[in-house]
Amino acid sequence: MNRNEILSWLLETRPERLEELWHRADAARLENVGGEVHLRGLIEISSYCVRQCGYCGLRADHRDLTRYRMSEAEIRECVRQAVDYGYGTVVLQSGEDYGIEREWMADLVRRIKGETPLAVTLSLGERSDSDLVAWRNAGADRYLLRFETSDQQLYKKIHPALPGKPSDRLAILRRLAELDYEVGSGVMIGIPGQTYESLAHDISLFERLDLDMIGVGPYILHPQTPLGEASERLSAPPDQQVPNSELMTYKVVALARLVCPGANIPSTTALATLNRAEGREFGLMRGANVVMPNLTPLQYRKGYEIYPAKACIFETAADCDACMKRRIISLGRMIGTGRGDSLSPSRRRKYNTERKREDAPCVPYQRPR
Ligand code: SAM
Ligand code: SF4
Repeated sequence: MNRNEILSWLLETRPERLEELWHRADAARLENVGGEVHLRGLIEISSYCVRQCGYCGLRADHRDLTRYRMSEAEIRECVRQAVDYGYGTVVLQSGEDYGIEREWMADLVRRIKGETPLAVTLSLGERSDSDLVAWRNAGADRYLLRFETSDQQLYKKIHPALPGKPSDRLAILRRLAELDYEVGSGVMIGIPGQTYESLAHDISLFERLDLDMIGVGPYILHPQTPLGEASERLSAPPDQQVPNSELMTYKVVALARLVCPGANIPSTTALATLNRAEGREFGLMRGANVVMPNLTPLQYRKGYEIYPAKACIFETAADCDACMKRRIISLGRMIGTGRGDSLSPSRRRKYNTERKREDAPCVPYQRPR
């Protein structure tokens, strides 16, 4: 699928054509990653963050948030729960928190890998090369870092560099692949200022980056952030601005599946926040094959509110586990067993070589002049 085709799907409104897109994505999901839905236990280990992302409730300047950093014992207790619930992976996520030190994290990863059969996914922000190397050597399997948008002008506005800390997430993603992590990335959908053209470029970049995991979710306005306060001023002209809607999110999930058929794609919490009753299910029926039940202890959930009214904030780990499994079964799908690894690198390489194209280079989006 080239960028123009992607663009025309993003602009498509006819219900019968959209049914065709859902059908194609679901068929590609079944053919490439099967009927299992993998559960990744999410542990939000710290809400401290040095960054100033204009969209996020954890940004350093947001004072009205009770910050926390979990102890090693607390994290290991959550990991034990993941094993008890039969999950194959734990995802350790946080703000960019340098209170999480390299060696402390490496020890924790080594212990989890030594004591359990779990895959360990990290999502700890833009950490140094030495940190990423140390954690990979300690046994971490995967790393998640969304590039958020490939439009560099927009990116600089919403994700400012810090003194001495420039931000080049695309470079880090390439480095993670070199270090042989399974690499996950993705974007928010409907960021004020995000155009259909740039979103089409984002989706073609998923393929070029050869992602193992793709997380996409709607941008949700947080009123106590710079982006939340200036949403209207920052928006693109109405005919170009991508809406942060449920429908647009399903389109991007489906297109992500079609451009990266073998990737692991979650039906995200942000989607469930827009449609609590059926958002997760529709995501799973339109290309997704992963869900991420929240294992974070209840007393910390409010301290990790990246946007208001986040789904699953009051449910215990046991509630989340039961709810996710019930939803999977209700769709006639199977609960994933094992780690749910990405396609083997050799299969991916072969697949990629066959599909290499020159019209979607692995570079940022260039705005038309
Ligand atoms: N600090 C790490 C990072 O930025 O990669 C991981 C944690 S961060 C909270 C995880 C993701 O949350 C971000 O990549 C971003 O896409 C998403 N996020 C933050 N604020 C959001 C918002 N207002 N609406 C939707 N998603 C948001
Ligand atoms: Fe920090 Fe990540 Fe939120 Fe940015 S998106 S402020 S890096 S937690």
